Amino acid sequence: MRLNGLVCSQCNDSADFVTPLNGTTLLAKTRTGEVIVALHTRCEEPWADKNNCLALVPLRKIFRSYNRALVSNNAVH
Ligand SMILES: [Zn+2]
Repeated sequence: MRLNGLVCSQCNDSADFVTPLNGTTLLAKTRTGEVIVALHTRCEEPWADKNNCLALVPLRKIFRSYNRALVSNNAVH
């Protein structure tokens, strides 16, 4: 498996990249807007506290529903 070298936004540990095994890429909704962040599972809570995050949504779930939407659109044509 190829790692994309995503560094956790909370601990910034370049020796411990965020992978599907230890964390995930998330869409974070904050008061100032939405940002995409990579976070270890253990780092989600401290990051959310620090950044006044309102919601953290795993990006993979969003992509999955996008794909489903695309498939159903194509079926119509
Ligand atoms: Zn981390």
